[in-house]
Amino acid sequence: MTNPRAELTTVGHHINGQAVPGTGGRMQPVYHPASGDVARQVVMATADEVNAAVAAARAAFPAWAEAAPLRRARILNAFLALLNEHRDDLAAMITAEHGKVFSDAQGEVTRGAEIVEFACGIPQLLKGQYTDQVSTGIDNWTMRQPHGVCAGITPFNFPVMVPMWMFPVAIACGNTFVLKPSERDPSPSLFIAQLLTQAGLPPGVFNVVQGDHVAVDALLAHVDVKAVSFVGSTAVARHIYETVAQHGKRVQALGGAKNHMVVLPDADIQQAVDGLIGAAYGSAGERCMSISVAVLVGDVADAIMPRLAERVRQLVIRDGMDKAAEMGPIVTREARDRIEGFIELGVAEGAELIVDGRGFTVPGHESGFFTGGTLFDRVTPVMRIYKEEIFGPVLSCVRVPDLGSAIELVNGHEYGNGVACYTRDGNAAREFTRRVEVGMVGINVPIPVPMAWHGFGGWKRSLFGDMHAYGEEGVRFYTRQKSVMQRWPESVSKGPEFVIPTSK
Ligand code: NAD
Repeated sequence: MTNPRAELTTVGHHINGQAVPGTGGRMQPVYHPASGDVARQVVMATADEVNAAVAAARAAFPAWAEAAPLRRARILNAFLALLNEHRDDLAAMITAEHGKVFSDAQGEVTRGAEIVEFACGIPQLLKGQYTDQVSTGIDNWTMRQPHGVCAGITPFNFPVMVPMWMFPVAIACGNTFVLKPSERDPSPSLFIAQLLTQAGLPPGVFNVVQGDHVAVDALLAHVDVKAVSFVGSTAVARHIYETVAQHGKRVQALGGAKNHMVVLPDADIQQAVDGLIGAAYGSAGERCMSISVAVLVGDVADAIMPRLAERVRQLVIRDGMDKAAEMGPIVTREARDRIEGFIELGVAEGAELIVDGRGFTVPGHESGFFTGGTLFDRVTPVMRIYKEEIFGPVLSCVRVPDLGSAIELVNGHEYGNGVACYTRDGNAAREFTRRVEVGMVGINVPIPVPMAWHGFGGWKRSLFGDMHAYGEEGVRFYTRQKSVMQRWPESVSKGPEFVIPTSK
């Protein structure tokens, strides 16, 4: 019998500036979610392949760290130009393996490119601080130096943008990098590696190893990997955080989310409906900043629910390459079945199922991993569909009497990634912003993903570690501060000093 997968192309690694096919033998299928077909196979790195990537990154580090920041920035500038030139190629790769609609994939590339633009300003960001004359004849300054080899482990839902939260800043700071992208949509990472090479990045500065927990565990334990950035689900984020910390390395691990949108009775109802629909069903809810809970305050539920239900039923769900599509398929069959399992659970828990997305098919794509938009009303905080991250196009509506109970509800949740509040009342918005225990807040903005120079990060179980991704926090994460005290004494010594120096 012939092997039906024999003709499939294989996605391999990128090590030391070269494509490496991989030798481990373990492979995993990569799907085209809109058709349900296996599109290609990805090789799963062995520990030896990870070691080869880290060795290449380690060998490239001294020269790269010595390069003037301006020179590093110029290479990133060339990469930025290539990224813009190939934006649609990358977006099409994202849609093909992730499923999100093409225009959303274009937006993903653009948001990633903005971090590269930020990183191009690295000479300014690394300037350090200087104090002349801290004591007579003594100056003190601080400088920031790179760690060495840094690793990034990224999720399936933003195969271009999330790696770009990490490596542009890391390499701009003078580090070298090993990326372990998601095995579910691995192809964009290799294209990025090719563009970096084309931009003039020296071999070994940016490497990609494909794979799963075997590759990740090898990276975490490797003595030459000095800092680890992770984005993914909370259980894995916690494991990464604890393991890397035990190895005495720097770590930032961003986890899952359950984002609420609070709608106050004075909000513009149409704006709130539009905000909820885009933020709950865009990218089929597979965003860490998706809104999955609508908190409807006072009598606003009666005004909003009928409009919300009507719009959910009208969602245009097709292959992401179809220009009319508002929502594409789910990334894999397992993920789709898991989402539909949560819908069944919600019904069993007593939530009111207003729109049921289960069993949705797209004509001509019957084997695609589609599900429709789902809307629940009268969800309560004790239900699992409220507590757990579903990561799909399922919006749960919770009714509360006032702003205070809305804030209490949000603050009681274990996750604290993003939150939004829709209102026309400036004082209510201000109160909400100050009291809510969430890392990223939107006022009449449904998905408040911070711009490149502000940094991204949640609170509570949405982030393990001290520093947010990208922005100035990113520069701090990817560098170590060194303080230098300098004195150039006159040739006459005053003898040893046994008392701690103080300003004189
Ligand atoms: P995931 O946790 O399954 O996988 C993330 C990465 O970890 C992948 O590269 C995967 O190969 C690796 N991995 C998986 N299991 C592992 C294990 N046991 N040991 C070591 N490595 C392992 O997440 P996903 O399904 O790819 O992505 C969706 C999740 O990511 C959601 O929970 C979402 O909220 C979260 N996410 C969070 C943010 C954020 O900024 N907080 C952003 C994007 C996605």
